Amino acid sequence: MILKDNQYSIQEIRLTELSREFGTPLYVYDAEKIRFQVEEMQKAFSAANMRIKYAVKALSNLSILKLMKKLGVGLDVVSIQEAHLGLNAGFRPDEILFTPNSVSFDEIQEGIKLGLSINIDNISILEQFGHHYHKEVPVCLRINPHIMAGGHSNISTGHIDSKFGISILQLRHVHRVIKTNNIRVVGLHMHTGSDILDADVFIQAAGIIFDVAREFHGLEFIDFGSGFKVAYREGDITTDIVALGKKLSKSFNNFCAEYGKDLEIWFEPGKFLVSEAGYLLVRANVIKTTPATVFVGVDSGMNHLLRPMMYGAYHDIINLSNPDGTYRVYSVVGNICETDTLGADRKLNEVREGDILAIKNAGAYGFAMSSNYNSRLKPAEVLIHDGKAKLIRRRENLEDLIKTLVETDLD
Ligand SMILES: *Cc1c(COP(=O)(O)O)cnc(C)c1O
Repeated sequence: MILKDNQYSIQEIRLTELSREFGTPLYVYDAEKIRFQVEEMQKAFSAANMRIKYAVKALSNLSILKLMKKLGVGLDVVSIQEAHLGLNAGFRPDEILFTPNSVSFDEIQEGIKLGLSINIDNISILEQFGHHYHKEVPVCLRINPHIMAGGHSNISTGHIDSKFGISILQLRHVHRVIKTNNIRVVGLHMHTGSDILDADVFIQAAGIIFDVAREFHGLEFIDFGSGFKVAYREGDITTDIVALGKKLSKSFNNFCAEYGKDLEIWFEPGKFLVSEAGYLLVRANVIKTTPATVFVGVDSGMNHLLRPMMYGAYHDIINLSNPDGTYRVYSVVGNICETDTLGADRKLNEVREGDILAIKNAGAYGFAMSSNYNSRLKPAEVLIHDGKAKLIRRRENLEDLIKTLVETDLD
């Protein structure tokens, strides 16, 4: 998004005009930014045999998945429904890694029937898998290394309480199950969910996975999950993808040389690819001055963007309608009957009722986490691609809200 001639625009399309054309609240995504992020990763890891598996859960609109396909990116899915979306978008089943947790073995079997790459995160499932499939269906194992690449220069051990993955401490058990059932392990996976803030720390963590990998002989890839951090506010520490790519490629290639095979290195970015590409456009319904605060009440809320209330996440907010207005301090709140703050104590160009605000970093975990709470309707989504704004999901209507209800006679 750039400010030119007093107008905020993406690919020459004025955002205030988009809000008039499609209404608000409106999710807007910039395909160019997504492409740019994909290319940043590809460049950073050009020295290694790197594959990107986009984490569908961040933003699962079918058109976004089709865009990922065009960009040569595979998918990481966490539910069988996400897998179906991926297949619908034209992905081959083997381009989709299925990484569910706490699912029944039935759902794993559905994934196998579809031909997905299967990532197993639990010894109980691994045993059932081995009982049914043996060598003909290769698997990846999700390992929990109990490390967090946290802080600046230390690996903090932790995550012992995490529900994800098979504990690195259970590897002997894992090897027994594999050997007894003749299971073919082709991949190892590690996604701790923590941010990569420092390449050196991450390399230390990778070393632990390399140690595990030495004990598996038929590997084809190692999947380092995600953890790529993007900026949500000015001054945020972000993952230095260039430094990480350089250092990790080197240590990965060294490992491959020692292992005796050119493995692929996989990543599953969600946020990194789509967070900054997305904006939630909302309309200022009311300005309300209380003894303590000036509130801007908008036509959206935690039902459309949950991250501020769920994680205390910071999302930058801009007044698109008044770019050179005087700066004033506001709390931007939604219209949901809860404490529903989208941004507290924000300096915005003076907001007038009817102005359009843009909430930034809304691409990842924005629409994907939206709900119908308060029986409000979900917003529309627009993708700006090749200089054109395309509606990729229409706004919900009242019919959508009641279509799954079954009328019963309570007389
Ligand atoms: C959520 C998730 C990701 C993506 O995480 P981001 O922080 O959005 O990059 C990747 N892999 C798995 C297994 C996940 O659950």
